[in-house]
Amino acid sequence: MHCTVAANNPLSQPPNESGTLPPIPFRLERRIVNSAADNNKTFGDATDIVSVSASGSSHSGSTAPPSAGAGIPWSASMAKAPVAARTKPHRVDIHHHLLPPKYVAETMALRVGERSPAWSPEMSIEEMDKNGIATSVTSLMQPQVWFGDIDLGRRLARESNEYAAQLVRDYPGRFGIFATFSLPDTEGSLREIEYALDVLNADGFGLMTSYANQWLGDPVFWPVMEELNRRKAVVYTHPLSPACCKNLIPDVGQSVIEYATDTTRAIASLLLSGTAARFPDIRWIFSHGGGTMPFLLGRFRREESRVKEREKRLPNGIMFELKKFYYDTAQANHAGALAALLKIVSVSQVLFGTDFPFALSEECVTGLSEWGFSAFDLRAIDRDNALRLLPRLKA
Ligand SMILES: [Zn+2]
Repeated sequence: MHCTVAANNPLSQPPNESGTLPPIPFRLERRIVNSAADNNKTFGDATDIVSVSASGSSHSGSTAPPSAGAGIPWSASMAKAPVAARTKPHRVDIHHHLLPPKYVAETMALRVGERSPAWSPEMSIEEMDKNGIATSVTSLMQPQVWFGDIDLGRRLARESNEYAAQLVRDYPGRFGIFATFSLPDTEGSLREIEYALDVLNADGFGLMTSYANQWLGDPVFWPVMEELNRRKAVVYTHPLSPACCKNLIPDVGQSVIEYATDTTRAIASLLLSGTAARFPDIRWIFSHGGGTMPFLLGRFRREESRVKEREKRLPNGIMFELKKFYYDTAQANHAGALAALLKIVSVSQVLFGTDFPFALSEECVTGLSEWGFSAFDLRAIDRDNALRLLPRLKA
């Protein structure tokens, strides 16, 4: 399980920036849909759950620029825009949740604050067909399998990963697997990485941004990172409301602020601990457009200038690592998020993601189509970038 981190690894070269930033379209106003989840703000992604039958929303279609100080409004609405969703399915959804019934039932009492919406494989397929999605790479809903119990975590991980593999067999070509494991359990993690890659043919791994107030860059996780690096694994990360910060503000659901914030914490942890640079062959994907990282970039760069052992931890600098990471567009497909992200990374690092069943896929399809990408760039985000990262899905 030991490996040497290769210096001058070709995979650690950052991608080239591509082209100039497209103009921000002004057709952005979309009405916020009141969802049932609005009444239930204490749950995790629940504030983002929308009814599958939601309809009737509209956008203004105005081409007039927003008034001064109006900012960039956005919503999680399901605008019934004439999106190109009913063409031949071609999209690859990198952020698509798996909710195995046994996992959901067994962990209900343990998943404090993390609600599970209705889900079935058939619902996923129907949603994908409606939205031009050829393949979805599934990852277990938060908080996945770590509840502080090693045996439970190992069993839940194995059962969930085998469930995901069965889904791949049952619906050929329609699903990929980001397998899960309990990161704090080093021995169990190493075993599950081997099983998932060598037996289940997993496409990569889905990890939480934090585990009981330890974020992904913590050196305690390095033995597992070393193995992920050796396997050149794709590691998709998903936020949760971390132990430190549950229910801080009355009436503000956990996912509203904490999810994007915990993604930012995970990125900061990986960068400033030196973990990202130390294990350069792990291909990291961050959910929701990298959380608030793009907005906080100035602070990241200031911190870089005073980080300890800078030459060792960030030999290529923070921007090098940030440009190498991948970012999905789930609930980050509105102009504010896209504008910030695309000022930092090239289109080649952006991946289509929906957050189904916590959000409807049409939100992402519509958000990306409204941005005004070129056909080439939209195709890259919808499909080609994901296939470059996960070539097995081409088949
Ligand atoms: Zn999600």
